Amino acid sequence: MEFPGRIGRRITFYVSIILILVLAVGGLSIYLARSISTSTLAVILENKHVEVTESIHATIHHFLAELNRVMIARKLDRVEDIQLFRQKLDEHIKAFLSLHDEVEDAEELRIFRRIEGMVFPLGSLAERVLQRAAQGLPPSLEDEKELHALSRRIPVVSNELNYIHYGEIRFELLQSQQRMRTILWIYMAFILAGGVVLGLGNLFFSRRVAFPLRQLASATSKIAEGDFARRVPVTSADEIGLLSHAFNLMGERLQAQEVREKRFQEELEKTVKERTRELEEANRYLKETQDNLIELEKLKVVGEMHASLAHEINNPLGIIISKAKMIMAEGKEKGLPPEVLSDLEIMTKHASRIAQVIRSLLTFARRTPFQLKDLSLNEVIQETVALVEKPFARAGINIIRKFQPDLGFIKGDDNHLQQVFLNLLSNAKDALPDGGTITVETCRDSSCGPVIARVRDDGTGIAPKDLPRIFEPFFTTKEVGKGTGLGLSVSYGIIKAHNGDIKVESQLGKGTCFTLMFKSGPGRGMRGEFE
Ligand code: ADP
Repeated sequence: MEFPGRIGRRITFYVSIILILVLAVGGLSIYLARSISTSTLAVILENKHVEVTESIHATIHHFLAELNRVMIARKLDRVEDIQLFRQKLDEHIKAFLSLHDEVEDAEELRIFRRIEGMVFPLGSLAERVLQRAAQGLPPSLEDEKELHALSRRIPVVSNELNYIHYGEIRFELLQSQQRMRTILWIYMAFILAGGVVLGLGNLFFSRRVAFPLRQLASATSKIAEGDFARRVPVTSADEIGLLSHAFNLMGERLQAQEVREKRFQEELEKTVKERTRELEEANRYLKETQDNLIELEKLKVVGEMHASLAHEINNPLGIIISKAKMIMAEGKEKGLPPEVLSDLEIMTKHASRIAQVIRSLLTFARRTPFQLKDLSLNEVIQETVALVEKPFARAGINIIRKFQPDLGFIKGDDNHLQQVFLNLLSNAKDALPDGGTITVETCRDSSCGPVIARVRDDGTGIAPKDLPRIFEPFFTTKEVGKGTGLGLSVSYGIIKAHNGDIKVESQLGKGTCFTLMFKSGPGRGMRGEFE
């Protein structure tokens, strides 16, 4: 940073002006004060001149008065006084001359010489008068006339001299007054100029320094509170301008830092959310797997028991049903009461129902080994549809096939898959009590995407509350004797055993669509994922 900067130079400028003003005023004041003191000395000197002139004048006056007394009243005892005055006069004249050694005023000296010139004849005149008085004679007429003439002239001349002195004194006093007035004006001008300089300085500092500093202080406290968008205007290129610029730079960096931190935080939150979702999914999957394991465990037990179940329940049931049917046939011939026959029929019906459930259960639990091979899903479905097409047509149900021809192969067990499609078609038929349409379609998203099969009907649909439960074993909405609730759960197990997936979409009153997804198998002659 340059030093001193603009503000520093401005301060130096104002201080220099004030210093120059102080020096100028001080110098002028000293000069004028010296002049005043010289004038005062001159006045004192002139005053002394006046004093001496006055003394000469007074002495001459006394001298003439005493001389008059001697001349008029012949008072000779005054002779000593006259001599005394004569001596005094000489002393005064000496004093006057010593004072006027350095006097250069020619007019003043000329007038004094005239006085001096009158004092000398006055001395001779006095001696002559005193000599005649000692002889008892009156003064001569010429002396009397001279005395009168001198008495008139001497005061006039000494007045002239005094007039010059008074003029000098007045002049010096006027000069002093003038200088004092000048000093006063200088001081007033100094105060005015000082005031203007201080006012300008104050204006400059409040505009260029104090105000921007206040703005900076308030912006700094805002930034401290976290408002990083706060900026200050940069209105000058001086030190305050540089400071404001640096402050704004700091604000920009803090704001950028805050944005970076926010972005980082958002990314962190997103990552945490994603991880949490993945964890939740993993948990759900674990739970599903656990539930499936439990179900599988139960089915395993049932499967293991199926031989004894078949023996212990199915065989006695078979005997019961055939015996009941025999009794019914004999009873009709032998005329048994119709209520008994009806009870027998109910017994046969319910025993048959038990036999059917047991059979389904055994089928469900039977561990038929999966024989996976390359197979065409189109062919499996085609064969299944062919099985049911006629009875369905009799019930007013039309089956539409939409097979994608180049579907390729999947790895699967055709018997088990037929069981699945039979079950789906049979459920669709049950959902179409008044007939309708079932669409069976196959497709494949891309060359290596999953192979998809759909069984869609425009039947009754599934209630939303039932939808999550339809794959549960023994869940059925069908009337007693018609559904066992095992069809979809068996199908689900088969599809899962094929590493596939089964989904359902349904709208009550509009129809249902089951979508089956199989991992894409090899094309003709290609190795598949199931291998
Ligand atoms: P079941 O057919 O013996 O009842 P499922 O497991 O095959 O047992 O089916 C369970 C339930 O799912 C059925 O009772 C029925 O409520 C519902 N369901 C299945 N398929 C359909 C369909 N296509 N339309 C309407 N409901 C269906």
